[in-house]
Amino acid sequence: MSAHERAAILAIGDEITLGQKTDTNSGEIARCLVEHAVRVTEYSAVPDDRAAIADALTRLALTNDLVIATGGLGPTADDLTRIALADAVCSPLVEDGSALAHLRERAFTRGRSLSPNQRLQAQRPESATLLENHNGTAPAILAALTVADGSTTTILCLPGPPREMRPILDAFVRDTLRAPSGTVIRTRILHAPALAEAEAGGRLGELMDRERNPLVGTTASGVLVDIRLRYEGPLDQAAAALDDTEHQVRRAIDPFVLPADAPSLQHAIVELMRERGAILATAESCTGGLIARRITDVEGSSDVFDGGWVTYSNKMKRSELGVSDACLDAYGAVSAQTAREMAFGALAHAPDATCSLSVTGIAGPGGGTADKPVGTVFIACAHCSSGEGEPTCLVKRFIFPGDRASVRSFTANVALAMLRFELLGIDPGCLLAEVPNTG
Ligand code: ATP
Ligand code: MG
Repeated sequence: MSAHERAAILAIGDEITLGQKTDTNSGEIARCLVEHAVRVTEYSAVPDDRAAIADALTRLALTNDLVIATGGLGPTADDLTRIALADAVCSPLVEDGSALAHLRERAFTRGRSLSPNQRLQAQRPESATLLENHNGTAPAILAALTVADGSTTTILCLPGPPREMRPILDAFVRDTLRAPSGTVIRTRILHAPALAEAEAGGRLGELMDRERNPLVGTTASGVLVDIRLRYEGPLDQAAAALDDTEHQVRRAIDPFVLPADAPSLQHAIVELMRERGAILATAESCTGGLIARRITDVEGSSDVFDGGWVTYSNKMKRSELGVSDACLDAYGAVSAQTAREMAFGALAHAPDATCSLSVTGIAGPGGGTADKPVGTVFIACAHCSSGEGEPTCLVKRFIFPGDRASVRSFTANVALAMLRFELLGIDPGCLLAEVPNTG
């Protein structure tokens, strides 16, 4: 067993509790600890307030054997972690001779002298030690807090700036958290696009039992669902246990889960198109090029992507894609018929394309009507299956929730998911029934 089994993470700073700055340090620390089989029991955040910091350190030390804090170690009046730590471990602040020499030298090489405020950074609780900061002035502080039952909790206070925090954390982890004898925590993430989270939960059923090991959990962002697997146990059984759970998850929600080596939907599509010798063209209205961007985010996508059009006006839809006046007059730009003509137009006008995606919709906030409220989007996917005969085209209407950015992001993801199902030969009509869809 590792000497440290349970850890809490504390982010310190007004900018965090005011919501002005996103706390990225805690996530980095958690990932690092989990890799070393230390279970993270809690994330907390407190403002730059001496009593609040001291109270949080004391409270977290009670139920954990390691507390890692970040922030508030700088030289200004609002940097109170040092004094609060001294309060928590009941040890007076003293000046550390070698840290002071180091600060002086650092100031000297920059042609400056040390200000009284900067000098404060050489202080530490008497019982604590300092860990050198090679990327900044404030050293980290390592202390031990004895709790009521006589056990001690390690407290590590790291500087707030991520580039200063990271190397000290790595060194601490390397030197202090010995490789655990046997027990490890291993995680795996499976991506399942175009699946509603509730639907995923329903299909996974007992696999999501909270007592299960590996534990299975889901997180959703729009129509992108991530399924997280977390194993805790002997190292030599980790791979087999995760493989077995992954297999069961795939069986429960295939064909939604992307291949294991695909980091995103667009990566999976580019790979799939390459395997099939398919070439894509896009015709976008409300997404303004987002789909083309997603595809071209993938290295090597030039093998499978001819190019695309952003046709915002009716004139452009006509002149670039050959959408007919009759169609635009009769049904309007946001219609299944226009989406179909855009998809066929892209297929016809792109030199090598074997499939195309088109989208037209109302991203909002204005422009909605009773018939076509904001969020109404038509997505078409045209496909020449064998190179012979007429291409086929599937068009679907959706009403996506949220603001403009949300509607555009939903549209791009669902369009890509439709293309994936089309390439896999699975009826996208039935598979996308779970996302908001009026048929
Ligand atoms: P400094 O010597 O720069 O004052 P510090 O240890 O006192 O360092 P803070 O003053 O709390 O740290 O924060 C300095 C900068 O570090 C902040 O402006 C912010 O950009 C970044 N930072 C602080 N806490 C976090 C956090 N939890 N996640 C990400 N960045 C953070
Ligand atoms: Mg500071």
